[in-house]
Amino acid sequence: MLPAVTQLLVLQDRDKKLRQLRLELKRAPLERKEMESRTAGTGSALDAAKLKAKEIEVKRKELENEVGTRRTRIQKYNQQKLETKKNDEYQAISHAIQTIENEITAIEDQELELMEAAEKQKPIIAAAEKEAAATKAQVAQQFADLDAKVKSLEAQVLEVQAERTKLAAEVAMVDEDLLDTYQRLFETKDAQAVVALVNEVCQGCHTKSQTHVIHAVKAGKVVTTCLYCGRILYPEY
Ligand SMILES: [Zn+2]
Repeated sequence: MLPAVTQLLVLQDRDKKLRQLRLELKRAPLERKEMESRTAGTGSALDAAKLKAKEIEVKRKELENEVGTRRTRIQKYNQQKLETKKNDEYQAISHAIQTIENEITAIEDQELELMEAAEKQKPIIAAAEKEAAATKAQVAQQFADLDAKVKSLEAQVLEVQAERTKLAAEVAMVDEDLLDTYQRLFETKDAQAVVALVNEVCQGCHTKSQTHVIHAVKAGKVVTTCLYCGRILYPEY
């Protein structure tokens, strides 16, 4: 094979690698965004559990106040009972007090139920907290992994880029036009600038080459391109 074509093949390999590395680097911010949106949803179970506990507590306090109000009323009635001299009035007040006491009992039953519900909510909150912490740690690890991946990709780009620059300079020293042709083909022919001629068929455009092209490729004296797609050909032995 023509030495210049061999060099171009190595150059093409590095250019493809660079293209792949840059593509992966470009994807990193998207991956980060996806992770961020996933994290945003993870605290909601914990928030819901805490909110429920708070609602229970608010309701319980309301009931406590209702009991307090009724006890004050009972105190007032008891005062009136001491002051009254009429028997029927005394009876009416006693009856009113009894009614309020019945109400208090009913409210206190509700309070008890709420306290039980609050107790049940405690392990639910604890489990949600544990899960949220685990998710947070997991996400932090994923972010760290992504950062490490980006750093590694950037280092690889620098390394391959340096190698590529050196190879391109070597080709240019021999034939500057050939390097230009190669670079143009690489950009316009989907990273397939130098392709094999297999069974007389160009592997770039999959067209059977003409006899003089086949001979020229096999002879390897000059750089030969496909008549149909313009790609640089090398013989596949
Ligand atoms: Zn072709």
